[in-house]
Amino acid sequence: MTTGRAAVYPLGPRAPLEIREFPVPDPEPGAVVVRVTTANVCGSDLHFWRGDIDLARLGLTGGTVLGHEMTGRVVRAARTTDSSGKPLAEGDRVVYRYFFPCGHCGACLRGYSAACGANAGFQMRSSDAAPHFIGGFADYYYVPPGQAIFKVPEQVPDQLVAGANCALAQVIQGLDRVGLRMGESVVIQGAGGLGIYATAVAKSMGAANVIVIDGVAERLSLAREFGADATIDISEFADARRRSKLVREMNGGAGADVAVEVVGFPDAFGEGIALLGQGGRYLEIGNISPGMTLTFDPALLTLANKTVYGVAFYEPLALQKAVGFLAETVDRLPYGKLAGTSYSLDQINEAFADADARRVARASIDPTL
Ligand SMILES: [Zn+2]
Ligand SMILES: [Zn+2]
Repeated sequence: MTTGRAAVYPLGPRAPLEIREFPVPDPEPGAVVVRVTTANVCGSDLHFWRGDIDLARLGLTGGTVLGHEMTGRVVRAARTTDSSGKPLAEGDRVVYRYFFPCGHCGACLRGYSAACGANAGFQMRSSDAAPHFIGGFADYYYVPPGQAIFKVPEQVPDQLVAGANCALAQVIQGLDRVGLRMGESVVIQGAGGLGIYATAVAKSMGAANVIVIDGVAERLSLAREFGADATIDISEFADARRRSKLVREMNGGAGADVAVEVVGFPDAFGEGIALLGQGGRYLEIGNISPGMTLTFDPALLTLANKTVYGVAFYEPLALQKAVGFLAETVDRLPYGKLAGTSYSLDQINEAFADADARRVARASIDPTL
């Protein structure tokens, strides 16, 4: 029997991850076993590890395997095609959804699986139980039957693909949801990974004017390289009202048609609504920690006919589009600058510590090292 390593998070705030050996399962009909080649340490992995989201309190026992921003090669497939009908075979590079809609709630029945309440529990499986390989920080990952899975074109490198099933698919889903149209203006709050992707995707969708706001000059210059028409540095313009005025100056006197929140601070929400013009649409992606609040005047929405879209998770189509977007832009956009620092699976605790202390922009695990 083949075995493989998995970095088990034994639960508890900042508990060191433990490398354990598990038998690699045979795929049941419809399932795929993947050899993981890259798994990035995402912000939400750090949330789980620090205990900001307490998995034990939510009812998880034993431990789990973190890591969802990942890609790999098919080792064994008990299905013959990917989710778009392309033949799927051993050795194919693939990307897949990391969360599990229930298929029978009201949202799922409406065909709106991103809104399924079951998605939020994606990290609630125990590594004690088969198939054991339930997270990206491991030699293998078990893609269960029915999961959305797509082949990846050879020209898109692993490091780039790994981000497709989290940040990039999320942004594509969101901009689709707010109905961004050609010629519209967009303000993006935050130039981290999500903000950079949002900039590139908004431009490719035909946005006429994309303004990016952040407090770090290097991030803003990266945003410009990914297509931003203008940027606003918070360290230069510390006052939110001043920034709002600046956005209007940069946008022909009006507020933006669409604003995107990818900062993750509640106050950004209030500021973002104010950056919209009459009838503007707001895309809320960044605030994912319940209990963080702000004081807000809802009349600002009503009187100006503004709409707020909250977007978490995504439909399979957004993941397919993410892969297509990368294939189409890999030679045109400076993706190399988004690349993370590579660690072997044995160095996982070092990778977490470095990512947590922000010593690296992004930590990336390569279990094949
Ligand atoms: Zn993620
Ligand atoms: Zn459901």
